[in-house]
Amino acid sequence: MKLETKLAQAGNRIDKTTGAISIPIHHSTTYAHPRFTESTGFDYSRMGNPTRQVLEQTIAELEGGTAGFAFASGMAAIHCVCQLFQSGDHLIVSNDLYGGTYRLIEQILRPIGVSATYVNTSDTAQVEAAMSTATKAIFIETPTNPTMQITDIRACVELAQLKGVTVIVDNTFMTPVYQRPLELGADIVVHSATKFLGGHNDVLAGLVVTKDSFLAQRIAFYQNAIGAVLGPQDAWLLLRGMKTLALRMERHEENARALADWLVTHPAITRVYYPGLSTHPGKQVQERQSTGYGGVISFEVADKSMAPHVLDAVRLITFAESLGGVESLITFPAVQTHADIPQAVRESIGVTERLLRLSVGIEHIEDLKADLEQALASA
Ligand SMILES: *Cc1c(COP(=O)(O)O)cnc(C)c1O
Repeated sequence: MKLETKLAQAGNRIDKTTGAISIPIHHSTTYAHPRFTESTGFDYSRMGNPTRQVLEQTIAELEGGTAGFAFASGMAAIHCVCQLFQSGDHLIVSNDLYGGTYRLIEQILRPIGVSATYVNTSDTAQVEAAMSTATKAIFIETPTNPTMQITDIRACVELAQLKGVTVIVDNTFMTPVYQRPLELGADIVVHSATKFLGGHNDVLAGLVVTKDSFLAQRIAFYQNAIGAVLGPQDAWLLLRGMKTLALRMERHEENARALADWLVTHPAITRVYYPGLSTHPGKQVQERQSTGYGGVISFEVADKSMAPHVLDAVRLITFAESLGGVESLITFPAVQTHADIPQAVRESIGVTERLLRLSVGIEHIEDLKADLEQALASA
């Protein structure tokens, strides 16, 4: 079946007793054993919960993996994957990276002896040059957040496979609707499901999908041992949001393309970052490995004094952190999501005080344009 069908049908025909189409929310933390040494398959909800399990099976199927795992947040999901590494191990990481992932690597992993080299992973030669005998994984975001660099996933996989290195892709921006890294050879996909997958700015969640059963067993062990699992209520909410993911992504992208094309021509804007623009250097790679460009745009205003004015002046678009929901949000990466990245590092990758990031919602395009137009005019 096609992805749209899998999404819409997720969870249907699970509850044989009642025929419930919306999956039941199983709040029970524990499960009666039929007999001594027997189990229903559920023992204790940290190890497995029927509602969470439907979500985990759904994301595994969507991404084309062996197993899925649901966590209390995207960061909990990424932290769990990082348990694969030990003191002495080395990681190669995209240099334009979600700020929380950077903080996790620098302030949680580095103190326990896991080192990382940040490179522009859209330049495969830089990835190759950073490889050492200690390298255990390449961690990629593509497109990157917020400057939308595109990394060639297949090229990284080829390099990694020569050396037995794990490839991890944060697929938050594209979702399996547009990009399935495991099918391109990656080993692990992580998601902040808080963003497009949930889609309504009302549930915090993270997901992991593994390609092979060995990795699946290890992640299952860490998920249970650490215990940052997603609760059943949130698992249900996420699954319910995901049912419309394919439709929402289409509209997010349609609006984003229209806004990007318009912003390029706007006199107050000096630069627009969107992989769907013909001037984007990664457009060809994006088209080889994805079927879309997504719903996030970053743009530079002409002067740094303008950025705070735009944030104050938007009326329909909300000045708030996060992305991927039906409501359009605008953020200031240098002072919000990327504040934990040192200024010099930030600026070297283009995250300046002139850069704004727009998560384009599913509102009517004319209303979005009008709001941005008046906000830019007043800046
Ligand atoms: C938001 C985000 C995260 C972190 O996820 P949370 O759900 O906020 O913990 C990780 N990666 C990317 C690309 C994100 O946008």
